[in-house]
Amino acid sequence: MKTKTVNLEKASVKLNNITKIFDSPKMDESVTAVDDFNLDFKEGELTTLLGPSGCGKTTTLRMIAGFEDPTNGDIYFNDQRVNDLAANKRDSAMVFQSYALFPHMTVAENITYGLRFKKMNKAKQKEKLNEILRIIGMEGYEDRRPGELSGGQQQRVALSRALIMEPKVLLFDEPLSNLDAKLRETMRNEIRRIQRDLSITTIYVTHDQDEAMSISDNIVIMNDGHIEQVGNPEEVYFQPKNEFVADFIGTVNLLPAEITNNSGNSFTLDIMGERSLTKEQKGDFNIGDEVQLVVRPESLDITEKNQGLINGKIKNRVFLGTHNEYYIDIGLKKPIKINIFNTRLKEDFQRGDEISIDFNSSDVHIVE
Ligand code: ATP
Repeated sequence: MKTKTVNLEKASVKLNNITKIFDSPKMDESVTAVDDFNLDFKEGELTTLLGPSGCGKTTTLRMIAGFEDPTNGDIYFNDQRVNDLAANKRDSAMVFQSYALFPHMTVAENITYGLRFKKMNKAKQKEKLNEILRIIGMEGYEDRRPGELSGGQQQRVALSRALIMEPKVLLFDEPLSNLDAKLRETMRNEIRRIQRDLSITTIYVTHDQDEAMSISDNIVIMNDGHIEQVGNPEEVYFQPKNEFVADFIGTVNLLPAEITNNSGNSFTLDIMGERSLTKEQKGDFNIGDEVQLVVRPESLDITEKNQGLINGKIKNRVFLGTHNEYYIDIGLKKPIKINIFNTRLKEDFQRGDEISIDFNSSDVHIVE
């Protein structure tokens, strides 16, 4: 039986009070790109750093890789503090958005590039190359040059070049941004498959919520150098900590409400001054607090006027085959979006109808 030649050791990564401040000599002011991060990246898991442009994702990744020194704080791979270790001594490998392949080298030469510095003999290199090509699904492409490959294939070669080094930590910086939507989806499934098969500790930077949701064990949601929430995809989707997370993760309906009663983990809310609702939820909310209720489009119902929680008017209805998308004006800046599967629709409500929207307290989540 053939033994596996790619044998990855695993590591956890820990950031303790990591801050990065960039000095800007021209403007005479500094930028705090990363502000006091404490994070644990667990062994064998894929964690995504997700957030809008400029929130500090790449800077965090580059500090873990050793390309950038933190201004304060400590970075650990397992129990080893790695702050003073050069990038090439850290047992991490990075896959870049731009692939960073050598155009004059063949696929095989690109993939084995790092091994040559390890002074590995040719036969062993070939054995590792063959296994990587098999894992990545690119057997037979050894002699092509990057210019003769598609974008997706080039990204596979870039990933192979990282994997062949048997890193303890694999780092991705927006690896799929240069690919079209369909290929992005294929490649993210592929990356997840390989990551799971090898169970390699992986840190993945993206600004794309769908990508983060579909591939991650954990998501770190960042905003302006701060961590807003850390959780698995279900947690950040169903229990966003605040309005920023709810909005960024793609929950489209936010209803303003006020806490009118608080008994332990049960809160009574006044929704838009119209109706009250009681919700069981863990949280630190006080009477008088102005909060937001997160409600997903698939959790809302349409009923006859005055029969539901809030009255409104149907602004638009879009037929999408399996379901209808309704846009309801309830006097907020943005209309409320409701998805109703055709089988769920009791009555045929039309554009312009005065209706009422309804939902169960179990389907909402209170955020600050
Ligand atoms: P994007 O998704 O656009 O790549 P990001 O979340 O990765 O953004 P970073 O590239 O980490 O964000 O940048 C965080 C902040 O630090 C930004 O305000 C950026 O302008 C600043 N910054 C990053 N690198 C430097 C640098 N070398 N010198 C000065 N400021 C920098």
